[in-house]
Amino acid sequence: MTTSFSNLSLAEPLARAVAEMGYESMTPIQAQAIPVVLTGKDVMGAAQTGTGKTAAFSLPLLQRLLKHENSSTSPARHPVRALVLLPTRELADQVAQQIKLYAKYTQLRSAVVFGGMDMKPQTLELKRGVEVLVATPGRLLDHIEAKNAVLNQVEYVVLDEADRMLDIGFLPDLQRILSYLPKQRTTLLFSATFSPEIKRLAGSYLQDPVTVEVARSNATAENVEQHFYGVNEDNKRHALHQVLRQRGIRQAFVFVNSKLGCARLARALDRDGLKTAALHGDKSQDERLKALDAFKKGEVDLLVCTDVAARGLDIKDVPAVFNIDIPFNAEDYVHRIGRTGRAGASGLAVSFVGGSNDARLVADIEKLIKKKIEVEALEFDEDRPRGRINDGRRMYQREEGEGRGSAPDAGSAPGRERRPHRQPSASRDPFFDRPYEAQAVDSAPAWESAKAAAPARSISSNIKPKRKVAALFKAAQPTV
Ligand code: AMP
Repeated sequence: MTTSFSNLSLAEPLARAVAEMGYESMTPIQAQAIPVVLTGKDVMGAAQTGTGKTAAFSLPLLQRLLKHENSSTSPARHPVRALVLLPTRELADQVAQQIKLYAKYTQLRSAVVFGGMDMKPQTLELKRGVEVLVATPGRLLDHIEAKNAVLNQVEYVVLDEADRMLDIGFLPDLQRILSYLPKQRTTLLFSATFSPEIKRLAGSYLQDPVTVEVARSNATAENVEQHFYGVNEDNKRHALHQVLRQRGIRQAFVFVNSKLGCARLARALDRDGLKTAALHGDKSQDERLKALDAFKKGEVDLLVCTDVAARGLDIKDVPAVFNIDIPFNAEDYVHRIGRTGRAGASGLAVSFVGGSNDARLVADIEKLIKKKIEVEALEFDEDRPRGRINDGRRMYQREEGEGRGSAPDAGSAPGRERRPHRQPSASRDPFFDRPYEAQAVDSAPAWESAKAAAPARSISSNIKPKRKVAALFKAAQPTV
């Protein structure tokens, strides 16, 4: 199979944009999917974020849309021809940015719409006319209802991160959106895993799809070093400091299972002296983008995230991923650790296994990734985590001789780096008590149940509907 872009006969404006991006050869998903999408066939692609799948579908789509390219200022000459649906705002934003880069030397217009932002600027853009519309389902429906988006000329629809869209409960929204599209169209579905639900979705909406698969589904990257440490719930934060220090890690993603846990952990780590930002569904879009940007610039050390908020974040070279909470869904483990070890770089994924609930969740992961998981013991050093000093280098100092709890050094420069760093004390902040959002839902595949019509946003973003019920039984006591 050819891996050079030059063998694809991409139109000159697209080839130029690709060359400008510095891509030397196609990634495996691109080498497999681009030729198929160029033929106009439906595709079911198993690929995680970070594999280059955005280019895998957007380059051939743009190529096929070039026949509609025109310089007219009339909105009627720029109807939506391709619709790309994604589960989260961040992901929609990232995909839209990539598409803009690929289309920059064409006259094809693209736009992105997602919730949490003012509708007006999005409306203006839609009214001017766009050929490629990237959207999250909820906000797209708002625009459809407001008659800002007309989809009767859509030729291509991409359901990206389809497994996550189902997890979040977007199925009813997707069904409505797909009902507005012409029957005669090409549908591309990308998903990290091909669960039975995804296969059912594909069965309903794709016609004779060609399956492209870059790695065994549910596989974890070979170049990610994975460790599972048995750590008491109360010591997990301390354990995080320990591994950061031992491995000399400067930046990491830290995953938790709930929004509340996310906010609390971020606050606690920040108090410990690490520059930390929280990324969860209750953060405004602006706050999320700022946190992401600060992390990319290296101004933030740790990004504490929930699964939904972190889904699809295009951040390269995150050296490590920590699972403070073992995810409720084994698939989320694969997604989480997919943030590290990208593009051949080596990565580290560390999971802290606490109570018996965690052991059950680890067993699920073991089954999914088909690898034996050894839970190791983590030996704690005498040293205590001391955070980052203000020359930008992280340094940990011994606790002795430092008036713990005393007033900050009067001579130190202002700023939080000079605060006296305290040893993390989990007992003061019991954020590890696993919270849950109690909304039992039907365990049948959502679209086969009458309850599927329930508004998507009523479903907890942290727990898959099916597993959520199980989680309720597993949690001994509701804690929040
Ligand atoms: P994606 O999986 O689409 O989110 O892409 C992940 C990252 O890989 C993005 O930053 C892309 O710009 C980059 N990328 C996509 N295709 C290639 C390629 N052929 N060579 C190098 N980088 C690429």
